[in-house]
Amino acid sequence: MTTALTTSEWHARAKALRYATGHFIDGDHVAPGKALFPVINPATGERLCEVAAGTAADIDRAVASGRRAFANGSWRRMAPRDRMAILCKFADLIEANAERFAILDTLVMGKPISDMLNIDIPSAALTFKYFAELSDKMDGSVTATASDAFHYILREPLGVVGCIVPWNYPLLMASWKVAPALAAGNSVVLKPAEQSPLSALLMAELFSEAGGPPGVFNVVNGMGETVGSALALHPNVNKIAFTGSTEVGKLMLVYAGQSNMKRVSLECGGKSPQIFLRDLADMDRAVTYAINGIFGNMGEVCNAGSRLLIDKPIAGEFIERFIAKGKTAYRPGDPLDPSTNMGPMVTASHCARVVDYIGRGKKDGARLEFGGDTPNLPGNFVNPTLFSGVNNRMTIAQEEIFGPVAAAIEVDGIEEALAIANDSIYGLAASVWTENLNTAHKAVRDLEAGVIWVNCFDHGDMTQPFGGYKQSGQGRDKCLESLLSYTQTKSAWIHLG
Ligand code: NAD
Repeated sequence: MTTALTTSEWHARAKALRYATGHFIDGDHVAPGKALFPVINPATGERLCEVAAGTAADIDRAVASGRRAFANGSWRRMAPRDRMAILCKFADLIEANAERFAILDTLVMGKPISDMLNIDIPSAALTFKYFAELSDKMDGSVTATASDAFHYILREPLGVVGCIVPWNYPLLMASWKVAPALAAGNSVVLKPAEQSPLSALLMAELFSEAGGPPGVFNVVNGMGETVGSALALHPNVNKIAFTGSTEVGKLMLVYAGQSNMKRVSLECGGKSPQIFLRDLADMDRAVTYAINGIFGNMGEVCNAGSRLLIDKPIAGEFIERFIAKGKTAYRPGDPLDPSTNMGPMVTASHCARVVDYIGRGKKDGARLEFGGDTPNLPGNFVNPTLFSGVNNRMTIAQEEIFGPVAAAIEVDGIEEALAIANDSIYGLAASVWTENLNTAHKAVRDLEAGVIWVNCFDHGDMTQPFGGYKQSGQGRDKCLESLLSYTQTKSAWIHLG
């Protein structure tokens, strides 16, 4: 998806765009009341709009609406092929409204508009198409029994699913939850991040336009601590599908235990290692992947390749090439400029947090190779940064920075690389670069991560289960396994006499 618009045309369209700022409940927009929170454009620091600060009562209304739709069967009892048709139409509408989605998410979280058009929007539409096509393929089964019984197994939707999502890919992260939940026949209450509340409302509106019945797809805006917790604690919600920080992910498990033992799936943080071994085939290609893996989407990526574990014999040259190319590959700039590939950090406080981590890297004795400062621009920008000479015990190697900060660690061969790679509370993703087939398979076997790449990084399609080991979460997005996690199993044993 490309656009021929110029920067000033994008600015003009952004200025002219009208959008909702309330909630979406029971098939309709709900205008904001008196309680509002500000949304700041992170590229300029200017107030963009004010959005409804929902309450537990709004969550109650949305959950009740979802429950009514589930009970009246308007969605779950619809012929699966008809559900599929609506979800495919919805996917088409997402593509048809690409410009609106691109502007909304770019304005609120600073993502380069070209990334929205080329990555987030096509991926979101693909997500809905993939799960739409699975709507009529969730077969049950009949088991082998003695002649006095007939036993069959059904898959049924859960009921009302609460989706709580972060701001780094607002449309796409919501799609990864909402699409399988809807394809399986559930109702949804989506709680977007307070930093990125706008595109979710457009999604719900377009679902209605595609023919989705009222109450099936609701959105409630507001703070995590109020509406997020009300949703996760709600006794009438059957599952929470969460993407966000490990810290808040742990709270979801507590909320489930404190309420109705609802199911919980968690996609949380990461500190992904990329292992570059001495026998890798093409150093330039590997360096390019290393740069994109940490600076893409401003480093605000759960599986960002933030730890570069480089084999000693090639470390010097690898870092030299990383510096030569990485210093200029990403340039902070106006996210509405189609040539910009690096926007600001999502908020001023997140920017300060990233800068603080850079300070800790310096204090702990890591070598700052480039970056480490903020450019002379309005907004929350941080320059792409590389530290070398990092020790895996340093804070910048252990904690998720969620910014464009790479930590290069020298390792002595595959055994040490694997030990360091696994020395982390996280286990979302990892990669290994080698020409040796045995080494590659050994790494796949021994790396403690849910997603492993060999001689690439961040490749995949909808069939690829996405999710973490250890404190990176539980459950998987994309893939068939995800769809099934929005269903429950019913066994029917019939006595034949
Ligand atoms: P966050 O945990 O602060 O917020 C995520 C969501 O949870 C938001 O909607 C927020 O409002 C809500 N929330 C916050 N406190 C809550 C509470 N007490 N009760 C209920 N809901 C609450 O995370 P973030 O800063 O928005 O996103 C960044 C994090 O998301 C990073 O750690 C990143 O790694 C993770 N992430 C993971 C994946 C993945 O697939 N593994 C993908 C994207 C982002």
